[in-house]
Amino acid sequence: MANKLIYFFGKSKTDGGGDMKALLGGKGANLAQMTKIGLPVPSGFTITTEVCVSYYKNGRKAPADLAGEMEKAVKWLEKEAGKKFGDVKNPLLVSVRSGARDSMPGMMDTILNLGLNDATCEGLAAATSNPRFAWDSYRRFLQMYGDVVMGVQKKNENDHDPFEEVMDALKKEVKVKDDTDFTATHLQELVKRFKKLIKDWTGKAFPTDPVKQLEGAVFAVFSSWMNDRAILYRQKYRIPDEWGTAVNVQAMVFGNMGDDCATGVAFTRDPANGENVFYGEYLVNAQGEDVVAGVRTPITISEMAKDKTIGAAHKELNDVRKTLEKNFGDVQDFEFTIEKKKLYMLQTRNGKRTALAYVKIAHDMVKEKLMTPEHAIKSGDPEALNQLLQPIFDTVAYAAAAKEGRLMAVGLPAGPGAASGSVVFTAGKAEELAAKGQSVVLARIETSPEDLRGMIASDGILTARGGVSSHAALVARQMGKVCVAGAGDIQIDYHKGTLKCKGVTLKEGDQISINGTTGEVFHGKIATADSELKQVLVNKTMKPKDSKVFQYYDFLMKLADKYRTLGMRTNADQPDQVVNAIAFGAEGIGLCRTEHMFFEGDRIIAVRQMILAKEESDRKQALATLLPYQQKDFEGIFEALNGLPGCIRLLDPPLHEFLPQHDNKKGQEEVAKQLHCSVAEVAKLVSELHEFNPMLGFRGCRLGILRPEITEMQARAIFQAAAVVLKKGIKVKPEVMVPLVGFKKELDLQVAIVHRVAAEVMKATGKKFAYTVGTMIEVPRGALTADEIAESAEFFSFGTNDLTQTCLGMSRDDSGSFLPAYQNLEIIKANPFASIDRTGVGQLMKIGVDKGRTTKPDLKIGICGEHGGDPSSVEFCHIIGLDYVSCSPFRVPIARLAAAQAALRNPAKPVAVKMIKDSKAKPGSTKSKTSAK
Ligand code: ADP
Ligand code: MG
Ligand code: MG
Repeated sequence: MANKLIYFFGKSKTDGGGDMKALLGGKGANLAQMTKIGLPVPSGFTITTEVCVSYYKNGRKAPADLAGEMEKAVKWLEKEAGKKFGDVKNPLLVSVRSGARDSMPGMMDTILNLGLNDATCEGLAAATSNPRFAWDSYRRFLQMYGDVVMGVQKKNENDHDPFEEVMDALKKEVKVKDDTDFTATHLQELVKRFKKLIKDWTGKAFPTDPVKQLEGAVFAVFSSWMNDRAILYRQKYRIPDEWGTAVNVQAMVFGNMGDDCATGVAFTRDPANGENVFYGEYLVNAQGEDVVAGVRTPITISEMAKDKTIGAAHKELNDVRKTLEKNFGDVQDFEFTIEKKKLYMLQTRNGKRTALAYVKIAHDMVKEKLMTPEHAIKSGDPEALNQLLQPIFDTVAYAAAAKEGRLMAVGLPAGPGAASGSVVFTAGKAEELAAKGQSVVLARIETSPEDLRGMIASDGILTARGGVSSHAALVARQMGKVCVAGAGDIQIDYHKGTLKCKGVTLKEGDQISINGTTGEVFHGKIATADSELKQVLVNKTMKPKDSKVFQYYDFLMKLADKYRTLGMRTNADQPDQVVNAIAFGAEGIGLCRTEHMFFEGDRIIAVRQMILAKEESDRKQALATLLPYQQKDFEGIFEALNGLPGCIRLLDPPLHEFLPQHDNKKGQEEVAKQLHCSVAEVAKLVSELHEFNPMLGFRGCRLGILRPEITEMQARAIFQAAAVVLKKGIKVKPEVMVPLVGFKKELDLQVAIVHRVAAEVMKATGKKFAYTVGTMIEVPRGALTADEIAESAEFFSFGTNDLTQTCLGMSRDDSGSFLPAYQNLEIIKANPFASIDRTGVGQLMKIGVDKGRTTKPDLKIGICGEHGGDPSSVEFCHIIGLDYVSCSPFRVPIARLAAAQAALRNPAKPVAVKMIKDSKAKPGSTKSKTSAK
């Protein structure tokens, strides 16, 4: 390979830096950065992600020059550390650590103490005069190497780890409780048994040559990029497979040399609630993984100050805490080890946090000038804002549960919110019950990456062991799951399928409730209630000044609004939805579907009369019945909008949906009675209307073309409503949208009706109002002929649901039968109905925008498909220069943040037309520039 394969960090030189995450991985880049700013980091080197990428490109073969480069790097590291690899007197030991661009906690494998064999172990024992430490390090090395490189792993979810089993057997034999109770002789015996275990499982002997060991470990890290856990993780977080992982080789420091040693992890602030407190934990006389794996329950970091032997390190850690926040501009999640009272830094990264912590930390750190506002916006996960809407316990039910003495245990509050549901003990069962629509709480002694699927399926996670940095807590924070970790009083028996505590025994399927904000665990169900944010914004049962959560959220949203250039609208059909959406930040309606109004109350009868009418006169009569209903609906919506623009789409049927189907004979009989016709007539019409694929049938404006009186009625209802509301002194901005247009002439015919009716209503009411008429672009022909269509349209709105269906020739409703397979095979990367297929559908959109604006340079263009609330699609809309996105009310905050991120990531917006302030319509503008016949 032509590029540099290896980057160094150490006393004599440091090649990399914090801004090189793509090449060095997050871990490698930040190790280099910490070294640069003078923090105590053991020396090492990083093999770049490019090497991993090339490894996979060449059928799992490393570049030819890697071995030579590694040899040179080891030589350099020996000099830095003053020890030699494989030296029987004073051996250099290293860790081999994976590290992708984005951290993937626990997803890939790390090997510690590499370089040990029988001879070097004796050497280490002599050099440190600490044989116990040497044998402990050796047995750990065998354990990790045996697992990661040689594949000695448990085969089933509820099996015990084979190494742990051997260790437990020895514990029983020699009657010790913790691994720290083993003597050097015990550990020496353990090493012997581990070697035998490896030989028995794999048929291969454990490699004694350190160079061979290193080679094996490096390739194992590359391979771990493609293990199931890593793949699943990447799918969930949309990390591309092509990134690859870097490999860090670093001189070991030891937290397991005695009681003046320790290892720990810490956050510069609380990642669960965002409080500005030092948050972390450590274990004395332990090595790396022990803290995360929950082998022993760790001590909280504030206790360290009181420790006589390592207390001094606490002050040093506090300084590090400040240095890190100042230099990295965000909350840091870091790993450290204390070797003989001396502090070493082993890792730092931006801390994953709950949405609550995200908004609080953004608020605080921006105000403290530790974080840039740009970073506050860029670093959030828009989707995670949903967590702020997650339920909490209902106050009354919660108090009752406590009074009834149903509190079983209190663990660590690791993921805020409330969850109540069936308790299950395996990931498999969690998935099974969740698939049946049940709420589940997954209870495990501790979780491991194998539980990930079950954790995704669960509403809440409960563990008996493990601290704030345990796997469960880590994952909960990231996925926004309600989680209580390390509830030590609870006993879980996987074999019996029970959870016991304080005399209460729960079996699988029994109800349990956990409070991830306080750490409480209750048996039985507890009703949940709306989150504070909902109480403030939706129910209005709480005042903004009484809710800190709201204030943090509001700070962040206002910040987002400063950066975004996209307008925000909502898809809403009812006044209450509009009010909610505006509370969440919507600046208008992007899509009001009129047909949703047709189902309410007894209107459906008139709708059916309209559909069934044989004569135009009958139809007109039915429409006359419907008109006042529609008008009232629009009045409500205009009032709720209070002067903001409201884009109303003309009827887009599948008409048969308004009639009882063939499997509903009783319903058809009823309709026949209501409409004074025979059941046979109803049945016949249903068949006629029920096309095989209504998606491509009598849809959109085709209805209004063939039945112009329907368009006329709707236009009249809209404009009469506008006039009524205007009379009340409330401004109105109706936008009439014609659906599914593929030909300019279609639009012309509809526009002519709308303009005529508008003029009539203005004349009749004596009220003048601004309005516009535009179209949805939702079939490929519409996009391809957008220049022609734009002559007749005052705005466009992309209906990306239909545009995706028609572009891909894929019906959303039955794509479920093959889409998952398509995603697994990577034919498509993401579900195109969730995230815009940029290369296909996106190209049509781009053509639509470009062609539309060649005709009308400042044509207002938005999107109203469900994609409007998807962060990646929002970004795409920003890139191609749309004016606004529209999404469901509860997704407006997500879209606001996503739009701000899009603006920061893509600073040069091609065409900037801000909606609302820029409404083109003039009062009474009834003349269309096109001649509608
Ligand atoms: P992960 O990405 O899963 O956190 P790491 O590579 O960070 O894996 O390593 C796992 C554990 O081993 C961590 O606790 C880390 O601090 C520790 N560790 C890694 N390298 C060293 C080292 N050179 N000396 C001492 N401990 C180490
Ligand atoms: Mg780590
Ligand atoms: Mg549509």
